[in-house]
Amino acid sequence: MGKLPVIEKLIEALGEHKVLSRQQAAERIANVYGKPNMLDVKALVLPESTNDVAVTLKICNEYKQAVVPQGGLSNVVNSATANAQEIAMSLERMNAIKEVDHINQFVEVEAGVILEDLHQKVKEGGFIFPLDLGAKGSCMIGGNIATNAGGLQALRYGVMRNLVLGLEVVLPDGTILNNLNPVLKNNTGYDLKHLFIGSEGTLGIITRAILKLNPAPAFFSTAFIALESFENSRELLNRAKVFFGDKLTSFEILWPAFYRLLTNESSGNKKVMPDHYPLYVLTEITGSHAAVSSQMEAFFETALNDNIILDAVFAQQHEDRKQFWQIREKIDHILVQHDPVFTFDVSLPVSEMEQYVATVDSELGRNFDTVYNYVFGHMGDGNLHLMINCGEGNADAKDLVEKIVYAPLQTIHSSVSAEHGIGLAKKKWLSFSRSPQEIAVMRSIKDVLDPNHIMNPGKIF
Ligand SMILES: Cc1cc2nc3c(=O)[nH]c(=O)nc-3n(C[C@H](O)[C@H](O)[C@H](O)COP(=O)(O)OP(=O)(O)OC[C@H]3O[C@@H](n4cnc5c(N)ncnc54)[C@H](O)[C@@H]3O)c2cc1C
Repeated sequence: MGKLPVIEKLIEALGEHKVLSRQQAAERIANVYGKPNMLDVKALVLPESTNDVAVTLKICNEYKQAVVPQGGLSNVVNSATANAQEIAMSLERMNAIKEVDHINQFVEVEAGVILEDLHQKVKEGGFIFPLDLGAKGSCMIGGNIATNAGGLQALRYGVMRNLVLGLEVVLPDGTILNNLNPVLKNNTGYDLKHLFIGSEGTLGIITRAILKLNPAPAFFSTAFIALESFENSRELLNRAKVFFGDKLTSFEILWPAFYRLLTNESSGNKKVMPDHYPLYVLTEITGSHAAVSSQMEAFFETALNDNIILDAVFAQQHEDRKQFWQIREKIDHILVQHDPVFTFDVSLPVSEMEQYVATVDSELGRNFDTVYNYVFGHMGDGNLHLMINCGEGNADAKDLVEKIVYAPLQTIHSSVSAEHGIGLAKKKWLSFSRSPQEIAVMRSIKDVLDPNHIMNPGKIF
């Protein structure tokens, strides 16, 4: 008797309820960002345990069948995109959160836990899991780890890489690599978990993780600031780092076009200050004492007297804080106002940012009659986002816009991706940030762990 087709083999091993057919999968969305597409895959596997993942990968490896891991599908670089020859595997059913370990301050989770659900769970125990991003209602911990997500509080707590203590990963041949260690220090050879953090599903499937928790800060102080110049925002950031130390949790910069669009009538957001200022900063400090608010006000009073800032508004209550953050986070509004929008997240030294944005603006202006460039981002972490439209319907502009945005980065030791990853969308530009030797080593690691190249083929390189 001949070999069963791979789908039948998977159904035999897992049961029909865990293997959706191409038709069943086609009823589900393939992305949460941008224009919605429906899934078009050979099949969609929905494992319920690590063992299910191992069985699936073992079979797929035997058949040299490509597998695309999927979490909340909120990536913006087509890193979880699968085609009709590929099997998608969504970790959504593996969404258990174990009890919070109060003494050692960690939590063990399955990869399909939605980030916001984790926030709620650990809050009950007086903790925070500090990764915070606009897609928190849909993105999953496995996806956050596979993309080494950054987010709004990386300035204080670091990126995902800094928040993972241990991992369980299933390798392409079905081997379960258990590194679920809850300890911070573990110098016993290569720290293998770091290979998988940021690997965009190309080396294995993350099934469980042990994550570091932090005590929930009892007090927040949030301010919207207006400034005259970028130079002043740099001075403000430096002063804030010295004055607040590790209480400084976020320092987000908003160019005026971004602020104006995100507070226009159709945005649903309230203008928290006039929209004629040259630059805005949204900043937050957190701490365990009520004094954070008075410290914040004193700090900005000095900055105002020293002519570093033009204006400041402080969140008086929770609702104000929500409104402030909504202006920064509701970036979908840009997609509603323009089509197409080309989205970028670059990383560069703060000292280079002003010149960089000016260069990009000038090149865009030289090449296109109509240009909207909305610039904002995590200035405190050296990370800017650009969302660019060069005329409605002008999808052909993409290549040129990418060249304009990425070319200046090559000479200032910067990165074409601060946090979103490479996926399919940025493959072409990887060599702007990584040397041929680095890419060769990455390829060798891929060959060792995934000799049949079944894991998320074509992504990154
Ligand atoms: C509104 C909005 C705001 C955002 N803000 C931020 C931000 O501030 N910072 C930031 O870093 N990102 C941000 N993002 C991008 C995105 O939310 C992150 O990249 C997120 O971590 C992706 O998680 P996900 O579960 O949606 O993964 P998916 O999109 O499903 O997958 C992303 C990648 O991870 C792989 N993957 C998924 N699960 C697993 C697994 N279990 N094992 C192995 N590989 C896996 C996939 O194959 C793919 O390569 C934002 C996106 C949106 C739409």
